[in-house]
Amino acid sequence: MKELRVTPIKNGTVIDHITPGFALKVLRVLKLPEATSSVVSVAMNVKSRFGKKDIVKIENRELDKREVNKISLIAPKATINIIRDYEVVEKHKVRLPDEIIGIVKCSNPTCISNSREPVESRFILVSKDPPHIKCYYCERETEDIAERII
Ligand SMILES: [Zn+2]
Repeated sequence: MKELRVTPIKNGTVIDHITPGFALKVLRVLKLPEATSSVVSVAMNVKSRFGKKDIVKIENRELDKREVNKISLIAPKATINIIRDYEVVEKHKVRLPDEIIGIVKCSNPTCISNSREPVESRFILVSKDPPHIKCYYCERETEDIAERII
């Protein structure tokens, strides 16, 4: 049985090994499918050697570092495959940064990062899987990270 059931793409990105059930959250933080006119395919609960996983394929688009960091907060086991002319030219695991800057909004309304002259939000990684993060300024831990990604 082939591991990847969906058809190969010519150019673009395959996000593999997404935590099962989290593909739609990955799409949402990448603002897909609205942010592209290319084909986006989603496979959920795909069987793999290590249990189930979700897969997202985005044609004609490569992700920047900020987008990859967002994915790492939602699916810390994900791998990013860059495809050019049907070949995987780059493959790497997402890596949670020790500090998450400007990506997540603090849930504390009185936090300095939410003030009228806001400083950029800054979070410290508390644990990796599942990801837990704590605000650098007010020390509040953020639940529902996916809902708070900017
Ligand atoms: Zn805060």
